[in-house]
Amino acid sequence: MENCRFDSNRCALVLTACAILAGASVAMSQTRPAKPPASLRLYVFDGGSLNIPDTSPYQLRKEDLASSVMSAPCFLVAHPRGTLMWDACVVPDSSFKPGSPGTLRYATATKTLTSQLAEIGYTPKDISYLALSHFHWDHVGNANLFAGATWLVPPAEREIMFAEPPSPRTEPANFSALNNSKTTLLTKADYDVFGDQTVVIKSAPGHSPGHQVLFLKLAKTGPVVLSGDLYHYPEERKLNKVPTTEFNAEQTAASRAAVEEFLKKTGAQLWIQHDFTGNAKLRKAPAFYE
Ligand SMILES: [Zn+2]
Repeated sequence: MENCRFDSNRCALVLTACAILAGASVAMSQTRPAKPPASLRLYVFDGGSLNIPDTSPYQLRKEDLASSVMSAPCFLVAHPRGTLMWDACVVPDSSFKPGSPGTLRYATATKTLTSQLAEIGYTPKDISYLALSHFHWDHVGNANLFAGATWLVPPAEREIMFAEPPSPRTEPANFSALNNSKTTLLTKADYDVFGDQTVVIKSAPGHSPGHQVLFLKLAKTGPVVLSGDLYHYPEERKLNKVPTTEFNAEQTAASRAAVEEFLKKTGAQLWIQHDFTGNAKLRKAPAFYE
């Protein structure tokens, strides 16, 4: 078919195919992967919100909270040496119906992740690495889209994800394809994704067996830690409340203490992913932090 471009006689025989190919090559050039950025970038995607039916598991009353609604973002880290998806939002793109928001359990989202990636020049196939803060349903919605990436996961988290019977706190169908992904098991406290200390996955177990947070050293924004579910509500941090539903509450307390110490040492901001008010203030893709 390549000959079409060079041989007009052969082309004449397959005019239709050539026209289709020409169209395809235009489409391909429009979706060519974004060039790696010269320096680290962080994109925040709109993953919609969670209308929490009952705040009592967080040991907080609705009147304790600025908002009981949670945001549910996911993130793309673009580094000169590759890309990392951090979490996979909530509602699978495949469950959106044209013209209406996507829903899953008590989550609602208005934009697909694929469309938000496309807006900044990426397709899911372009992504080098996938890391999930943890395996709960509201963090793994589109994990299957990234089955072609290298999955960075602690052994204990991988184990609970594929346990039988599956945990009711997740949606196994939304990450089943990761079972066959190229996988790097994270066995140390810190994992330096690109080898230059600017993107570091930090073990912070407790909320789940292999829960983790993400440290980013952004040149202009300064250092940032993406919380996973180390906290859900900012009031949890202020009032020192540990949810009753933690996998291991003692571990959560220890992980929180270690991360708080790390924040002090580095001067990093903590972005609580589910903090509805905090998340609303963040610039969303196609804008980015650098
Ligand atoms: Zn969770």
